[in-house]
Amino acid sequence: MESTTLHHVPVRDWEEIELTPPDASADLMRRAREAFDTWRRKSIDERLSLLRALRHLIVDRMDEGMEIISQDTGKPKVEALTSDILTVLDAIRHAEKRAKHALKPRRVRTPISLIGKRSVVTYQPRGVVLVISPWNYPFQLSVVPVIEALAAGNAVILKPSEVTPRVGAWIASLFREAGFPEGVVQVAIGEKDLGARLIEEHPDYIFFTGSVQTGKIIQQEAAKRLIPTTLELGGKDPMIVFADAKLNRAVQGAVWGALTNYGQVCMSVERIYVEEPIYDTFVETLKREVARLRSNGGDETDLGTMTTEMQKEIVRRQVEDAVANGAKLVSGIHPRDWPKSGDLRIQPIILTGVDTRSAVMREETFGPVICVLPFRDEAEAIRAANDSVYGLSASVWTSDIAKARRVAQSLETGSVLINDVVLAIANPYLPFGGVKESGIGRYHGDEGYRIFCHEKSLLIDRG
Ligand code: ADP
Repeated sequence: MESTTLHHVPVRDWEEIELTPPDASADLMRRAREAFDTWRRKSIDERLSLLRALRHLIVDRMDEGMEIISQDTGKPKVEALTSDILTVLDAIRHAEKRAKHALKPRRVRTPISLIGKRSVVTYQPRGVVLVISPWNYPFQLSVVPVIEALAAGNAVILKPSEVTPRVGAWIASLFREAGFPEGVVQVAIGEKDLGARLIEEHPDYIFFTGSVQTGKIIQQEAAKRLIPTTLELGGKDPMIVFADAKLNRAVQGAVWGALTNYGQVCMSVERIYVEEPIYDTFVETLKREVARLRSNGGDETDLGTMTTEMQKEIVRRQVEDAVANGAKLVSGIHPRDWPKSGDLRIQPIILTGVDTRSAVMREETFGPVICVLPFRDEAEAIRAANDSVYGLSASVWTSDIAKARRVAQSLETGSVLINDVVLAIANPYLPFGGVKESGIGRYHGDEGYRIFCHEKSLLIDRG
């Protein structure tokens, strides 16, 4: 097939991405099961050496990847590099360093009733893992769980988002070229009906990242078949800024945490609670910092764009509703003056005086919108932050670390960052995941490999 030039970088075959029909699901599962049979018997060193080959290939093809990710999502290439590509490289390095240790059989000390016997816990791969991923970090959120599942000895079927098909096709080509045996990783690019059909084929584990609404459907379908799941869902992350915080650092954290990826991040900062004495100064400084961001669409841009018209509409509805109910638009453009369809740039928005019952405070926004509210004391800040169905992550900003740790313990979230932005938690070393409607289960860290395994207990009596 002819190659197509896209912004100076040749991107192969992107116009002719072949979608996998839902009917192909049974064949995909059959191939995955056959492949699992041999893959599980390979040593972990053999599996890790293929992952190392994948890492080298990604480095070689990095420019191409940045271009494709940026084209599919609208994010600047530098963000495609830092938050999609480098995160994957980091995760592979982690697997190379830690997976063997995490999956090593574990001797257990047993009581006198088991005298003379040896007890060992081993980690057995589950079988075929189905990974269903979203469009906001189409490379990272697809490939990282695949790496962890493969390192643990599973075969994987990946169904990436239909919104970013070129990234899906790129991922498929990388695994092919890295030399993974046929069927060990199959990338099935298609819409939600393909995902649904793949679940009907009864994979041994489902790792899903996406919306709460879809997560609940997946969980129902999985429950019918008793398939275990990890669900990485949405968030409405709060940031609590006390009066003794370093103001400039906190504002910078707010800008990065709320506007990276144009706010289309599950752990985006969407609600900022600022202690009263510094509230006005915080809002003014935030407004000034946001005004300095470049949004020119070129290589030098700080901000990308919304990825889809559908998401732009969700943001529009929430902002219009908030303003109609008394919120003040401190910076940004009122949705009635937004560009019409076809232009996905809407400018960052700062809202104050927002009614806490409005959608922009209660639902995930997934766009460049920051709500800033004042609070009087610690108890009020904790109450406000926890007043959400979501519980992914949060941040606390103060120079009093004892206070920060106390507040952190009271926050109903999967992780809390003290004096840093929530995005810093997205690394392969720390377990990550949500509570409440933000999800079930964790990945990353040593646990990240073990979730893709059964723990099998052996009791050995040498006789
Ligand atoms: P978003 O990516 O916009 O947050 P979703 O949560 O709906 O939206 O989608 C995440 C992933 O889940 C996508 O790959 C999508 O195709 C897939 N998906 C959506 N609905 C279903 C479903 N009912 N069964 C299986 N997969 C689904």
